[in-house]
Order: sequence, then structure tokens, then C-alpha cells
Amino acid sequence: MSHIKLDTPVQFLKGVGPRRAELFQRLGIHTVEDLVYHLPHRYLDATEVTPVAQARVGDEISAVGRVVSTGVIPTRKRLRIFRAVLKDDSGVIECAWPGQAFLERVIRKGQLLLVSGPVRFYHGRQIVPREHIVLAGEDDQAGEEITSGMVLPVYPATEGLTHRQIRRLISDHLDQMLDVVHDYVPAELARQCKLMPLAQALRILHRPGALGEVERARRRLAFGELLELQVVVARARQLARSVPKGPYFDIRRDLTTQLKESLPFQLTGAQRRAIREIAADMVSDVRMQRLLMGDVGAGKTVVALFAMLLAVENGYQAVFMAPTELLAEQHARTMTSLLAPLGLVPEVLLGKQAQSEKSAVRQRVAEGISSIVVGTHALIQESTEFNKLGLVVIDEQHRFGVEQREALIEKGSGPDVLLLSATPIPRTLALTMYGELEISILDEKPSGRKPIKTSIRSEKQRDSVLEFVKQKCGQGEQVYIVYPVIEESEKLDLKAVATLTEEVAGRVEPHAVGLVHGQLKSDERDEVMRQFRDGRIDVLVATTVIEVGIDVPNATLMVIEHPERFGLAQLHQLRGRVGRGGAESHCVLINYHRGSFERLKKFARTDDGFRIAELDLEERGMGELIGARQSGGIRLKFTDLSKDEDLVIRARAAAKEILEKDEDLSRPAHRDLRARIERGYERGIELFRVG
Ligand code: ADP
Ligand code: MG
Repeated sequence: MSHIKLDTPVQFLKGVGPRRAELFQRLGIHTVEDLVYHLPHRYLDATEVTPVAQARVGDEISAVGRVVSTGVIPTRKRLRIFRAVLKDDSGVIECAWPGQAFLERVIRKGQLLLVSGPVRFYHGRQIVPREHIVLAGEDDQAGEEITSGMVLPVYPATEGLTHRQIRRLISDHLDQMLDVVHDYVPAELARQCKLMPLAQALRILHRPGALGEVERARRRLAFGELLELQVVVARARQLARSVPKGPYFDIRRDLTTQLKESLPFQLTGAQRRAIREIAADMVSDVRMQRLLMGDVGAGKTVVALFAMLLAVENGYQAVFMAPTELLAEQHARTMTSLLAPLGLVPEVLLGKQAQSEKSAVRQRVAEGISSIVVGTHALIQESTEFNKLGLVVIDEQHRFGVEQREALIEKGSGPDVLLLSATPIPRTLALTMYGELEISILDEKPSGRKPIKTSIRSEKQRDSVLEFVKQKCGQGEQVYIVYPVIEESEKLDLKAVATLTEEVAGRVEPHAVGLVHGQLKSDERDEVMRQFRDGRIDVLVATTVIEVGIDVPNATLMVIEHPERFGLAQLHQLRGRVGRGGAESHCVLINYHRGSFERLKKFARTDDGFRIAELDLEERGMGELIGARQSGGIRLKFTDLSKDEDLVIRARAAAKEILEKDEDLSRPAHRDLRARIERGYERGIELFRVG
């Protein structure tokens, strides 16, 4: 086939059949456009490769050689080690993969193999690869490319589809694909910014002549995707603001003042500032679209409650939606006690309530008898109606899809909206992801909280950690133990978690141990969590499913196994489960991976969520931070926010300028940009629908 287009399915490319097309789909690649933007995640430069004869014990090296022999050696500890001997021009060296006997089926004699990892001494010098890549097969001489000084792109791959197959396929079709790539950055803007042509940037990234070129090309693509994103968020903001504001609020100092005077604690400076910002929005005649961002435990609920009371004292209803029943119950409890002195009782609506109870609640809400409503997804069902909804608050907002948030907002006519997020992110990222929102930040912890002591222990010290767990139980305190389950080895991990649970149970007898993991149904999970909350369980072993935001003040110890499998921001979220009461709290990381020590030490040293978010960003680039917003259709693949702040700012300004001239992107100069957005964003079509 000679004519391809951007939307041609990859299946129709020469070299891809239906079976391979399926594998490509696993990588998110459906069309030619997806393929041409499937860029190497790294490059190998032949100059970085160490001749094996020069490998020194203690060094981290990369080496390339032919496999001259392989085998699996059993050891005393029932650990099976796969080994392979590599030969290059300088000599031979052994590589060893403990516990990975399955590699027998992957790595074979005669292959050209690249390995990288530390060199140790074990009967001789030995590489323990962290990574390996088969560069060429047994009878494939093509591998010479690596030794000829060329830069070799390495593509994200998947089981059954090697990076080498992907490289070949992309290489075979590259020219053809580049011919049909549209530069969606408007020509005038590209000229002003002196951008290199898009096709040239893609060519460099797929086939760099030298590593030095790659960064400039990456930034070229980053600018493009940032422009797309900024146009989308700027447009969303435009549309959100164009909805006329329904409610009319005044500062009345009635219920809000009563709450302030009856609070059992002093508000932090950050809370006071956020409350002021929110109140200013609410009394203005532009609709509030505000995000309240703050670390776990920063006290977002109280701030939201002030906003809700401001609505209520003006004769409106306010609703608070949480992503799980457990969290909704928790919020309802907190609000009930804070509102008691004011003589107010929040209404609660949960999916698990009996039909008759739900109907009764819905009736009171519809008639306007209840002014403050807390609940879950049950709130967005059609049968829920409000009498006079003035304010919508959404907790853990990223856990809801755009449609779900909209469904709740549409229950009022132009109500103010406050979104809560416990995932602190650096300012640049916030500007990028939440361009359509105003942002308030709670960057101060309520006083009286003792800092959580974080320590790092090695596998050898595991026993003494379990001893500590027992000691805490003995003092009547509670403990979380988190064991991360990774998707690829879910079965093995779940087995390990079960074993761990038994081990812990044996240790802490007669205290009770519970287990929650992702395979439980949500009501089963909630039940175990409730038992923990109510103190019927002392130690909770969990995969990562423990809820963000769950508040058990009596839990004082968080033990995390395999912390190296978590991003720092995730670790921070987990650590935030403890330190919620007055007692001293600890977080203990059991580290099995020496290479992770430094990053964990950085984590242990700081308790500042925003600082950790920055570290996390430096460490991983965009990755999962953005994952949190996927349901809104936003992904950044090429941008590195720790380096590209200038691009964010430029793209923001450019987007604004484009929309000022052409708000629905209907001009010919913006046709490609609009088409690109409509292909890439769920909401794109609706945002730019003309007429
Ligand atoms: P998050 O920001 O994680 O949602 P919450 O709103 O659940 O935090 O607050 C956590 C706990 O801290 C709650 O028990 C709340 O009553 C308490 N709290 C909130 N603000 C303060 C404050 N200024 N001083 C002391 N405790 C506070
Ligand atoms: Mg919360």
C-alpha cells in the first residue's frame, strides 16, 4: 500500500497483521499517527558501552556482546538464577539474573545482547543486569549498528512485540509517515517562535544523528502538545465563565461567623486565606470555578464547610460529593460534629442506603428542607433534585469523570463550584493541567500535629520492624502495612501479601490483623476499613487500595514494603494516613533495593507535599501525575515540566492569542490544530463545535 494517512489503522502497514495490530493496541497505538508519535523512551549511544574486559567491580556499566552460553543454576535457597555468558571483542563476562529463570525462554545463545547494571564479584566478575535488550537474533547480523557509533533508539515495547520489531517497523515506514504529518502549530506562530518543522523534529527523534540533537526536537514536540492543551483549557475556561452565574451571595456573617466561633481549633493562616479567596469568588458576579489544593490533613473539609455555610446563610443549598461511601461517611461525621453547635444537621445520601431511606432524603432535598447534603455518586442520579442549589463541592475531584462532575453541577442553575484535591502539584503543572480553574493552596499544616518520623530499614531489619508493630499494638495504637501489587506480577504479589498477613498475624497475636486488596468487592473492602476505623482490627495489611483521605487518628505507624515501587508523591500520600491524632507517628520504609536509598532518603527528610511533588516530577517526568487527569482526556507525552516551564508560559500566551482571534478555531489557519484536538481529546469536539 502506498497511500497512507494519519488515521490509517496500523494494521494496514506492511509488516503488521491483525495479530501484531492487537499487540500495538496494548501500547495505545491504533493509527499511523499514534505510531509516528510513538517515540523512543531512551537512546543507546555506542560510546557508552564498556568493553567487558574493562568492567570493574562496583561500577555500573552497559555492555554489548553475543551470548555464548546460557543456563539456570539452582541454589540452596531454592532461588533459581538464570545466567548467560557474553562475549565481545575484548573478552567474556558472566551475567546473572537471580530469580528470573523464565529468561531461559527469552535470552538464547547467539543473540546480540545489551545489558546494563552493576558489576559484582561472585566466583569472578559478574554483571547483575537491571536491564537487558536483545539487539539482534541468533542469525541476524543487523546488530552491528550498535557498535558503529550510531545512536540506537529504544522504544517502549510490550510482551510479544519487542522494541527491535517496533524499531524496524518505524524505520521502514518513517519517510512515508512523515510525508503525511500535518504541522498543527499555526504557520504564523511557528515562524514567530522559530520552530523547526514538525516532520524534522520527528525524524530527529526517531533517527538521531547524535544525541545532542534530541533535546531540541523533543522541545519542539512539547511545545506542540502544550499548545494543544492550553487551547483546550483556555477554551474550557471561556465556556465555563460564559455560563451565567445563578446564585446571588452576600457576606452575611451569620452561620459562617457562628462556625468560626465554635470551632474546636484555630484555623491555619492558609485556611483563612483560602476561605477569603473563596468568599470573594462567591460574592462576585462571575461563577466560581476554584480548585482547593492541599496535602492530606491540611484541613480542606473545614474550608469547604465555610463555603457551604456562606451559600446556606444566603438561602441556598450546598452539596458535597465524595468518591467513596467511606469518605462520604467520614465527611458527614466531621460536619455533623462541627455543625452541631449551629443547630444544623447535614443530610447524607449513599448508594447503600435502603430505597425508602434514599427516597425520603431525596424528597427533603427536593423540597429544600435540607440545606447541606453530603454523599456519593448517588447524588448525580436523575432522581436527585435540588430546590435551590447554590454551591457544589467535589472531594478528590480527579476520581470523578468530567461527565460525573458536570452531572452534579447541572443540578443547579449556574452554581458556584469548588473542587478539592489532595494531590499537591508544582505551580507549573497546576497551570498546565488546571488552566481553566482558579487555585487556592493550603500549604500549612494545622498546628499541634507532630511531624511523622520517617525511617528507612533494610530487609535484614525486617524482624525488628515487625517487633515495633507488635509494640504499637500493645500500646493500643494501630498500624498500616502496605505492600504494593504490580499488575504484571499480580498473582505472585497477592500470594506474597497473603503470606505477609499470616506472618504478621502470628507475630502480633492476640491482636487482630485484616487484609484489603484490589480484588475485593468494594463493599467487602469498605467493611474491613470500617472494622479498622472502629478499632476492631489493629493491623491493616493493604495493597495500595487504602483510601486517600481516610482518617483514623489512632493509627500511628505506617510500614511500607518495597517503597522503590512507588513514586515519591504516592509514598507521601500513604505516609499521610498516620499522624492524624496527637500521638507521635512513624513511617518505616523496608527497602530491598540498594539503588533506591538516596531517593528514599530525600523523601524521609521532607514532609512538604509540594516539595515532594517537585522531586517526584524531576524523577519521573510527567507520567502518573498526568494519569490522574486522564479522564479529562489530558496527556502530555513529550513535555518535561522540570525543564519546560518557559514553553508552558509561551504556549499559554499563544493559546490565548489564538482564541481571542478565533474562538472556535474555524479559520483555515487553525484547521489542523482543531482537527488534532478533536482526535486527541474526549472533550475537544464538544469544546469546538461550531454553530
Ligand atoms: P484533608 O485536607 O486531608 O481533607 P481534613 O479536612 O479531613 O483534611 O482534616 C483533617 C483533620 O484535621 C480533621 O479531623 C479536621 O477536623 C482537623 N483540622 C482541620 N483544620 C484544623 C486546624 N486548623 N487545626 C486543627 N485541626 C484541624
Ligand atoms: Mg479530605
